[in-house]
Amino acid sequence: MTQLPERYKRGLSKWLDCSPTHLFLYWKGRVALYALLKGMEIGEGDEVIMPAFTCVVVPNAVLYTGAHPVYVDIDPETLNPSFEQIKTAVTDRTRVILCQNTFGLSSDLDRIVSWARERGIVTIEDCTHGFGGSFQGKPNGTWCDAAFFSTQWNKPFSTGLGGFSLVSDEALREKVYQVNRSLQPPAWRESIMLRILITLKERFLSPTTYWKALRAYRWLSRAGLVTGSSSGKELESPAMPEGYFKGMAKAQMREGMKKLRGLEEVLQRRKKNGEIYTRTLEQLGKWAVAPALFPDHAFLKYPVLVRDKEAFRQAAEDQQIELGDWFCSPLHPVDGDLSPWKMEREAYPVASQAAAHILDLPTDENDSLRVARFLEDQSALLLPPNALTV
Ligand SMILES: *Cc1c(COP(=O)(O)O)cnc(C)c1O
Repeated sequence: MTQLPERYKRGLSKWLDCSPTHLFLYWKGRVALYALLKGMEIGEGDEVIMPAFTCVVVPNAVLYTGAHPVYVDIDPETLNPSFEQIKTAVTDRTRVILCQNTFGLSSDLDRIVSWARERGIVTIEDCTHGFGGSFQGKPNGTWCDAAFFSTQWNKPFSTGLGGFSLVSDEALREKVYQVNRSLQPPAWRESIMLRILITLKERFLSPTTYWKALRAYRWLSRAGLVTGSSSGKELESPAMPEGYFKGMAKAQMREGMKKLRGLEEVLQRRKKNGEIYTRTLEQLGKWAVAPALFPDHAFLKYPVLVRDKEAFRQAAEDQQIELGDWFCSPLHPVDGDLSPWKMEREAYPVASQAAAHILDLPTDENDSLRVARFLEDQSALLLPPNALTV
């Protein structure tokens, strides 16, 4: 009988067109990134390039190693840094370029990866939004030297919390094995708590309960009463919290195998709904994701730009639309001073502007025409196509 981790890896590997032995499992996606950086021996004096439009746990993982995050502003159409913008940020201390898949939209991977390889710079894909999608016919996560993925609540498929990495390079794999020797096993209490939260979400989460449940979960996790995605400490300063470097629990693997079985259908639905939202927004003359740019993106969430976030959010709650608020800050979800993460907002005008106006529509939605009607009703709050041109 094959062990559970091996079976889960085999399931994942089919989607990633890789050997199961190239995969490593963790408690969260951020932990997978940290292990990759340690495996690459990134540290003091090294620079890691990343978008100025990411989750704060990404620069956290870099800062825990002693290296320096170098942020690059985003392109107004793709919400990712362009190849040209990345090139200007490279110095002789650059060791890694992080290519983010944002909402399912790939970076300019072919150009970035081949340019970086010629210069001995390692590329890592932040594929936390991109599992199941592809770029130019190759699965997301397989373009770079390594990639990390997340299976947190809102990611392509969810195990509550969870993450893994794909390491294509053999020498790096050997190093990551060594690094992983110091992984802690999850405490039984945490595993059980996660199992309970997954069950609660399955049983009770619906458009009618979404807003109340979201508020309750955020309040409880901030108060430390349930296992949240981030501890309060991770959002206050870049100091590694206790118990950070943790492996994956069996409950997460079992849930992952279950979710993979239904994923194909979910991906189809996301794609179809993404197309419906783009068409609706284009007809209204509003900012939309241009389909021509990314023919095979996965549309984990669909970004919209609005004039007044609070008014739009209230309207969504009234209409029971499951709206999200990703990237409410260039380093989501930290508002206010970003200097502990070596970022000055003013230096990244497009990312700052996007963060001030962006919200996201659900794409795993059975009734997307209801969402399209909602967009039509709220048209006055939606911003025009040039909204991010600064
Ligand atoms: C969710 C997310 C992460 C981290 O994933 P976890 O599993 O929560 O650690 C990293 N980068 C981006 C862009 C994310 O959205």
